[in-house]
Amino acid sequence: MRLILMGAPGSGKGTQAEKLMDDFGCRQISTGVLLRQAIESGSELGKKVQKIMSEGLLVSDDIVLDLINNELSEIGESGFLLDGYPRNINQAKSLNDLLKNIDKPLDYSILIDVPSEILIKRLSGRRTCSLTGKTLNIYFSSENEIDECLSKGGELLQREDDNEESITKRIEVYEEQTEPMVDFYRSTGLLHTIDGQGSVDDVYIRLKKLMEL
Ligand code: AMP
Repeated sequence: MRLILMGAPGSGKGTQAEKLMDDFGCRQISTGVLLRQAIESGSELGKKVQKIMSEGLLVSDDIVLDLINNELSEIGESGFLLDGYPRNINQAKSLNDLLKNIDKPLDYSILIDVPSEILIKRLSGRRTCSLTGKTLNIYFSSENEIDECLSKGGELLQREDDNEESITKRIEVYEEQTEPMVDFYRSTGLLHTIDGQGSVDDVYIRLKKLMEL
């Protein structure tokens, strides 16, 4: 399968992408993950993007296109799942051209729709267990899930851009730059929208139903 998952920061794109990847073996390509890895590795690219990302702004189109180009060049028959790319109309057009060139058209472009008041709580409460890498939320995860991490000596880590100022900026950037792109996909008739409210499993059921999996 070849698809893009779209949605505001905190809509659950990454979480749903991971579930699809685990169940169906297609490759998840997340520009946010790739950029955070570059920062952690201390590479030149990481140094270039760190400040922009911590401020909640978009890094340049050229940088992310390079990353996507690299990743897509290694894609086999099992397909791909893009999460966090494209994020503006220019990136959507570049992706279109790229997929045309490699003759791998999209099967689906899916928007996960979540009201903004829920997004803020999801993002400000988001933590990652330092031991397992599992995503947790101090407002929504059960006490058992949180204890499972802490009792084994794990820490609940927070992403650098999950602070109030960056969250507000990221949602603003989404409304200004990404929503017009979503309209672009809508106008091509390729867009599907699912309700992203509720539990991870509820949303996953809706996603699989849409894709008839
Ligand atoms: P994410 O993990 O998708 O929430 O992305 C985290 C941050 O990485 C964003 O706030 C941007 O700074 C940067 N980023 C991720 N994907 C893109 C993209 N397609 N275009 C520009 N910046 C991106």
